[in-house]
Amino acid sequence: MKTVSTATAIMGLPVAMAEEVVAQAGKEDNRPPVIWLHFQECTGCSEALLRANHPSIAEVVLDIINLEYQETLMAGAGDQAEEALHNAIKKHAGNYILVVEGSIPTADMDVCCKIANKTALQSFKEAAEKAAVVVSLGACATSGGIVAIEPNPTKAKGVLEILLDDMKWSEADISAKYLSIPGCPPNPYNVLSVILYFATFGKLPEKGPKIPPKNNLSVRDELAHRPTFAYGRLIHEHCERRPHFDAGRFVREFGDDGHKNGYCLYHMGCKGPETYANCSIIHFNDGAAWPIGNGSPCIGCTEGSVLFKDSIFSLAKVAQPKPASPINETQGRGKESSVAQAAVVGGLVGAAIGAGAVFATKLPKEPEDENK
Ligand code: SF4
Ligand code: SF4
Repeated sequence: MKTVSTATAIMGLPVAMAEEVVAQAGKEDNRPPVIWLHFQECTGCSEALLRANHPSIAEVVLDIINLEYQETLMAGAGDQAEEALHNAIKKHAGNYILVVEGSIPTADMDVCCKIANKTALQSFKEAAEKAAVVVSLGACATSGGIVAIEPNPTKAKGVLEILLDDMKWSEADISAKYLSIPGCPPNPYNVLSVILYFATFGKLPEKGPKIPPKNNLSVRDELAHRPTFAYGRLIHEHCERRPHFDAGRFVREFGDDGHKNGYCLYHMGCKGPETYANCSIIHFNDGAAWPIGNGSPCIGCTEGSVLFKDSIFSLAKVAQPKPASPINETQGRGKESSVAQAAVVGGLVGAAIGAGAVFATKLPKEPEDENK
């Protein structure tokens, strides 16, 4: 109850759907099978999930999903593990969620990320062909991430490129069966929310940002494939340091008086104004912390065109120069997500609901229009 209510609130679903999600998640045979492959990565995305407490990883694995294969968590190794993977692909063909963590090397090098004597590309294709949906988790899997920095010796690619270029998925296939959850690492609540949504409704959640409009995006644009509930808004829109940005109060040097007073980090290279994500709303470690809150500029880890492409200290393009609306004003604006909704959802589990529904009280339905 606590878990699904939290996730439902984060996704901004109406109250009636919260009850539906609770009901669906209660059916043991409804746990979606998940096959989770690791390629070129640091495992930070899995580690972030391990640190979530509402729910804990134990609740996720035992109650919410049917985790058939995950190299970091599974006890088996070697031939046993490989057999488990093949059995899972066969048993759940057409029904499983394939989660990919890490980039896929495409260079003609025998030493690149071989598992069970197969290249990462072979392993990915085998699993993707029979998946119900493919989810790229983290910056590495979405756009290559740190592994694909020039000169990119392994010619690392993200999942979308492989699906389009190597597997020849059509735009319709991509639209129906592919979703990315970028970030370095992505927020575990976004991962959980997507899995619960798929388990409940049998399809992926709405994708793309509110701004720019979805019809302006090509199939190769990574903005088009993210869940809107998590990546529909800019970090800058709801940043706690935004009043300082609007008032022209900036940190000019780490450790200066502005830094000590929590001023805006724009001149320290903060990429919040061009980075779409909900970090500024739901934070990490169950709401305890997030980079900007800790005094570190956002590095744009959800944007493949920014992360490790732009210099850490280069100034971000400010997509939204007008002042932010106060949180109190925006709460009542949405048709679906509101304080009342979060309160009712929270009421399902009383005071023990966890951090997610509390964050949901800060969620406006519509982002500001950057073109105004
Ligand atoms: S996206 Fe970041 S945290 Fe995730 S595997 Fe890649 S480098 Fe690690
Ligand atoms: S520039 Fe960065 S620190 Fe400043 S308000 Fe925007 S997101 Fe926050």
